[in-house]
Amino acid sequence: MATPLPIFDEREGPRDECGVFGIYAPGHEVARLAYFGLYALQHRGQESAGIASAGGDGYIITQRALGLVSQVFKEHDLRALGGDLAIGHVRYSTTGSNEWENSQPIHRSAGMGGNRRELALAHNGNLINAVELHASLREQGIGFSSTSDSEIIAALLATHPAETMDEAIADVVPRLQGAYSTVVMTKDRVYAFRDPAGVRPLVLGKLEDRWCVASESCALDIIGAEYLREVRPGECVSFGAEGFTSEMIVEGARPAFCVFEHIYFARPDSRVRDTVLQVIRGRMGEILAREAPVPSADLVIAVPDSGSTAARGFARASGLLQDDGFVKNRYVARTFIQPGQELRKHGLRLKFNPLPEIVAGRRLVVVDDSIVRGNTTRQIVEMLRSAGALEVHLRISAPPVRHPCHYGIDMHTREEMIAHGRTVDEIAQELGADSVAYLSLAGVYEAIGAPREQHCDACFSGEYPLEGTEEAQGKFAFEAVLPMAAPGS
Ligand code: SF4
Repeated sequence: MATPLPIFDEREGPRDECGVFGIYAPGHEVARLAYFGLYALQHRGQESAGIASAGGDGYIITQRALGLVSQVFKEHDLRALGGDLAIGHVRYSTTGSNEWENSQPIHRSAGMGGNRRELALAHNGNLINAVELHASLREQGIGFSSTSDSEIIAALLATHPAETMDEAIADVVPRLQGAYSTVVMTKDRVYAFRDPAGVRPLVLGKLEDRWCVASESCALDIIGAEYLREVRPGECVSFGAEGFTSEMIVEGARPAFCVFEHIYFARPDSRVRDTVLQVIRGRMGEILAREAPVPSADLVIAVPDSGSTAARGFARASGLLQDDGFVKNRYVARTFIQPGQELRKHGLRLKFNPLPEIVAGRRLVVVDDSIVRGNTTRQIVEMLRSAGALEVHLRISAPPVRHPCHYGIDMHTREEMIAHGRTVDEIAQELGADSVAYLSLAGVYEAIGAPREQHCDACFSGEYPLEGTEEAQGKFAFEAVLPMAAPGS
């Protein structure tokens, strides 16, 4: 049966992607460490969570279910998942009748479905050649139990005829096109590899003399591990009883790290290239104030929490006062109870409650980090006006989102995007705001302090950096009939 989605998503911009975690640490409670690693990565996916562990008895045990990390695992589950190594996954998924099947880690047992080796796999990203790979595996009679492109990677590795996992990875990874930050475990070793463009993040850490990997450094912080470095684009690291190895599997690709990780996806306390994102997001707000000042304004407020850091930067740079214009209910995202006719008219108040004592009679700058469809933003403007705001000037610390992402983010369709086919003035009119301004792409890269040539910004620019994306776009039309190509891992 299809699982009902919450009536409000925690973050209403682009849908989050996924988070992955892996650890080898005999003598530690690895499943518990994976649990807390995933807990720190919860913002990357709230629909399902899973952990696989192994050690001692030589079997991989997997537990995964729909729900938040704290809902999926209870104390006795973590005890049952003991062992020396573990991997984990949190996922954002689209609706569907087989959502549980699409939760991860994917577990392929030896001797079943054409498998030659047992493994568990967790993936963040989206393959753009999933249709071809899937067709070729099916031709070989290889079976699938899910409709996620992540199982294609798992199937390629589990069924590969090579003697060792290292050889299988070296042969399979160059055949994958798209975005893939992937963690795989056998019963005695963890492998982590990243696509040659490095679209999605993956970092390496150390817990005492043991190793771990995670989508973001905040997951290392929570378990007391030391952040060492990023897993390099095209690199595969592995660790287990035999020690640590690193090998470059694919080299020479144009780097294309997702610029939206800086703006929105990653947690503000995570590091990208050694800089904490909180600092970068503050700079985005400062540059936005320089690029799009509001001389008539007398107060800066944030859309909490997504716009909070940029709002502080905007206020700092403009010399304007800053205050909280809303109180946010942080728990509303997970209510499955529909509000009913009586409460429906209050709409977003379930999530944001404006403070008339702060906003009435003021000319407001309202800062948020992105607008995709604009439905939430329109209601926010309405709420502020009915709370007595004199003017509402929206300032967005990202450029307009006009194109879909083919690398693992559900951005809605072009037609649903408020910036699609509209000028900035038309967007302001559509949202009921006095003015709207976005941070320029140049401003984004100034804040990041790294060149555009090393990033993907396709959802803003329409320039897709990975070879094969344009050809693959046509095939996305077939997702409905060939769900194996569905993104969202
Ligand atoms: S299209 Fe946008 S969200 Fe997708 S990888 Fe590129 S920058 Fe990130």
